[in-house]
Amino acid sequence: MGLAVYPWQEELARELVSFRNNLPNGLLIYGPRGIGTIDLVVAYAKSLFCEHPHRDGTPCGECKGCKMANAFTHPDLRYVVSEAEAIPRGIPFEPPSNASKDRKIYREILIHQPRELTDFLNLAPHIENGRRIIVVYPADAIRADAAATFLKSLEEPPERTTFLLVADDIDRVLPTIRSRCRLLRAKAPTHEEALSWLKARGIRDAEEALARAAERPCLVTDEEAIRQNTEIDAKTREQLLTLTTMAPEIRLALLKTLSQGSRIDPTKIAVKEGRTALPVSAVLPVLERWSYDLLAVKTGLEPHYFPAYSPQMKQLVATVDADKLFKYNDSLKAMRRVVTHPLNAQLIIEQAILRYRKTMANQNFD
Ligand SMILES: [Zn+2]
Repeated sequence: MGLAVYPWQEELARELVSFRNNLPNGLLIYGPRGIGTIDLVVAYAKSLFCEHPHRDGTPCGECKGCKMANAFTHPDLRYVVSEAEAIPRGIPFEPPSNASKDRKIYREILIHQPRELTDFLNLAPHIENGRRIIVVYPADAIRADAAATFLKSLEEPPERTTFLLVADDIDRVLPTIRSRCRLLRAKAPTHEEALSWLKARGIRDAEEALARAAERPCLVTDEEAIRQNTEIDAKTREQLLTLTTMAPEIRLALLKTLSQGSRIDPTKIAVKEGRTALPVSAVLPVLERWSYDLLAVKTGLEPHYFPAYSPQMKQLVATVDADKLFKYNDSLKAMRRVVTHPLNAQLIIEQAILRYRKTMANQNFD
């Protein structure tokens, strides 16, 4: 498999390895969230410090360069990664000195991060004839003030320095950053690739889990990893688990709306592809997860996806028959199979919400 972390990355891994001896100042690797692109780029960044790499670009794992890179202590390798992405991957993250204690987890790259980078870039690489590598993720979520500092480094790149930027959404990367980088696209796995990989990892109900994660297999395994990570406190875990396919504020609004049960107002859910409204592609997976959790609660279990909503869910399902919940859950699965186009999806989601309202009123829908 070479350097690829996941089986669908072999081509991209080869492409990255081909740059090894001729690295540009900026490489921007982009592809949808949840397909493991950042994991490959981290593996690649580490491999660049291996003193005796194999022919396919995989690191030896034994040399000093490998050991330091693996321990996140290599002096020439820096990570400018948002807190939300750093924590689950064990990447060191230092919050700003004025951060409040009860704050939310940062999902963006903040101004203090590239500032620290400036000092780093003013020094020569520690390793003679070596390179400095900076991994940046998500390059499409850099706060405006922080972006200015980046641009300066990208415009006047210090010698022997390479930025490896990773973005989930290329359209949200500042054009000025994009234009200074070589672009590489990360291909999403096919349904079969994703499914067989999840099955090989022992994921239960892999088909269902993959569908609920909108065909992004790493979201499934990342969630499992976060759930099982005992080094993260409960509050942080809860926050990380809610950051999946959609922006947290949008997701919260949707969950709040769903908590209204039969009092839900379908006209309040404006769905469209774009930045402000709910993205169609993300709504159905949330509805499915919500419905799955309602069923779990009805059968006496705790909600799997939205544990924070346990009290609301208990109240909601108290007056609804289990068979109605099953029927609703099945109808969502059927809907998922026919969502092919945003226009079509809009209608389907409206229908899904209307059915939800009926179900929560313990009524049948046609
Ligand atoms: Zn090595």
